Amino acid sequence: MLDKKKFYINGKWVKPFKSNDFEVINPSNEKPFAIISLGSKEDTDAAVKAAKEAFVKWKETSKEERINFLEKLLKIYKKRFNELAEAQSMEMGAPIDYAISAQTASGQSHLEDFILRLKNFKFEEHFDSKSNNHISYEPIGVCGFITPWNWPINQIVLKVIPAFATGCTMILKPSEIAPISALLFAEMIDEVSFPKGVFNLVNGDGAGVGTQISGHPDIDMVSFTGSTRAGKLITKSAADTIKRVCLELGGKGGNIVFADSYPNAVRDGIKNVMSNSGQSCDAPTRMLVEKSIYERAVKEASNEANKIKVDVASKKGDHIGPVVSKVQYDKIINLIKSGIDEGATLTAGGPELPDGLDKGYFIKPTIFTDVTNDMQIAKKEIFGPVLSIIPFETEEEAITITNDTEYGLGNYLQTEDKEKAKRVAKKLRSGCVYINGNAADSGTPFGGYRQSGNGREGGTWGLEEFLEIKTITGWN
Ligand code: NAD
Repeated sequence: MLDKKKFYINGKWVKPFKSNDFEVINPSNEKPFAIISLGSKEDTDAAVKAAKEAFVKWKETSKEERINFLEKLLKIYKKRFNELAEAQSMEMGAPIDYAISAQTASGQSHLEDFILRLKNFKFEEHFDSKSNNHISYEPIGVCGFITPWNWPINQIVLKVIPAFATGCTMILKPSEIAPISALLFAEMIDEVSFPKGVFNLVNGDGAGVGTQISGHPDIDMVSFTGSTRAGKLITKSAADTIKRVCLELGGKGGNIVFADSYPNAVRDGIKNVMSNSGQSCDAPTRMLVEKSIYERAVKEASNEANKIKVDVASKKGDHIGPVVSKVQYDKIINLIKSGIDEGATLTAGGPELPDGLDKGYFIKPTIFTDVTNDMQIAKKEIFGPVLSIIPFETEEEAITITNDTEYGLGNYLQTEDKEKAKRVAKKLRSGCVYINGNAADSGTPFGGYRQSGNGREGGTWGLEEFLEIKTITGWN
């Protein structure tokens, strides 16, 4: 059993103020493999105090000094890359090859991209040639970060690195379900020897350290990635101190497959939903298929889902792992049952355990067809390997159904007609639209419309989230 009870506060690994042990479970075998502590108010206060004191000097560092620190961190990240992948695979069940090629690699590419954007970022600019006003971009101050378990390192890098880059100091509370990769990342930060107090980590749950962060009077900004449920609570708790609140929340993406889509569009759509066991906020979990190709698409989708292997996370190769926890497992199985009860047709998977797996939180890749957009499976973010297929007849109908959700994170569309693709993409109400399976490049902004959130992470936009903007008159 790994002992991971210490917190990282003011440049040191310290014991929690009082002991409150919490077991970290491996979802592939349901066994605990590490123990962390859930922090208390005293731990949070100590971390915030350290960050507040460190801000005084850190905000005065030059861009070049901060680039230097980040380049050192990148070297250490690359050196300990495999450790990070193994930790994520154990704590949240990502198959090891996926933890390497997707989870850990995405963290690295964001880190590399932020260094590049920082090099090109101007913190000072003249307003315009006729004016004597000057605009200055300044770090917002002490930041509180609350992150989820589904892409643990990716989400942490998207917050911690731009905070370092812009001269902010911080306290991180990773998900208590998947905290081991975060602790490793803190070890890397320690190895870089950032000035003490710039980065602090306190483990804890939402009701404890999470709420202490969102309501803390000495925290200037809270950046949260997680469920819309928690995003609402955090917003309310932050209101009394008027801190900046950045939210990256849930999604219920649509994937419009037009009759003129490229040959593998349905197959790729299935892969996109099922990878990471369906635990991605921008997964295209509603597939809208044009009626003229509906029967063929349903067959293709079901064949593809039946081909996907489900296995323990430590095994190499192309398969999906378990979902993260018993709580998530029960929630997903109940939603699958609700789909059956509401009259959708189950064409692949279902609520039983996959063959040969009787331990671990494993779920069969599941497909429902003849779904209507008012069913629970079409409305709720299931966060498991479950797809709903909905038929449509016209372009307008497809757009209406896709936008008929409280979320707006990522939508997808498939057509060989370039003009139609652009026209439809512009009408979809989401922070990202993926046409014909093209991925978003590193450094593009990521975030949601409506209840999917209110900020943007990544690239220059991700740096700007951490800045105050000051107008200074009489500059010349
Ligand atoms: P969650 O909201 O339960 O927990 C996320 C984090 O918030 C954890 O660290 C948790 O301890 C903390 N938390 C919970 N309640 C809190 C409260 N009241 N106050 C403060 N902190 C609180 O979410 P999860 O189950 O860990 O993650 C899955 C969710 O994250 C999904 O809804 C998914 O769509 C979303 N997500 C969004 C994005 C995005 O960029 N939009 C990315 C990844 C995940």
